[in-house]
Amino acid sequence: MSERIVIAPKSAEAVIVKRGQTLRVTDIEGQQVADFVCFNETDHAEYFSQAKTRINNWSARIAQGGLLYSNLNNVMFEITTDKVGVHDLLFPPCNRFIYKKIFNDDRTGCLEHLTSALEVHGIGIGEIPDPFNLFMNTSLAEDQALRIHLPVSKADDYTELTARMDCLVAVSSCADDLDDCNGGRCTPIGIEVV
Ligand SMILES: [Zn+2]
Repeated sequence: MSERIVIAPKSAEAVIVKRGQTLRVTDIEGQQVADFVCFNETDHAEYFSQAKTRINNWSARIAQGGLLYSNLNNVMFEITTDKVGVHDLLFPPCNRFIYKKIFNDDRTGCLEHLTSALEVHGIGIGEIPDPFNLFMNTSLAEDQALRIHLPVSKADDYTELTARMDCLVAVSSCADDLDDCNGGRCTPIGIEVV
């Protein structure tokens, strides 16, 4: 087991996860979303795809047993253990533009924080894919409007993802304390290779 990296509130970290290794993502205090993105370690033109993941699982929600697909339809990760079961596959990372548009607030979001973690690997803001949003609780209303609800994750709940290829992974501790996304407060996320 690797040493746990604690991702401070409103920040992100990047790690390498080799094929066959399992990354555990822990919601340390509960009700905290973790945006997860990944790239083929040796070819960053292959990266996680929300849309390909939805269509290959034929669902807008995945949990234990679900597979995370790349833009090239290859399996990147499998969810091998899941203590929560409610995650989002619909939303982009929160970002400066959306905070300004919805809340008239000038701040950075997960997009900017994921970029900070990945730029050392040569990945820029325009190359960050829409994430797998662990612990984020969303739904579609009857009129198909998007909804964000309080996460159902409790303190120390975790999800484990086993790599099916060598991956560069980045995880952000979501920066949204303005609505129900993280229960109104931002707390740390733990990641470790188990
Ligand atoms: Zn966020």
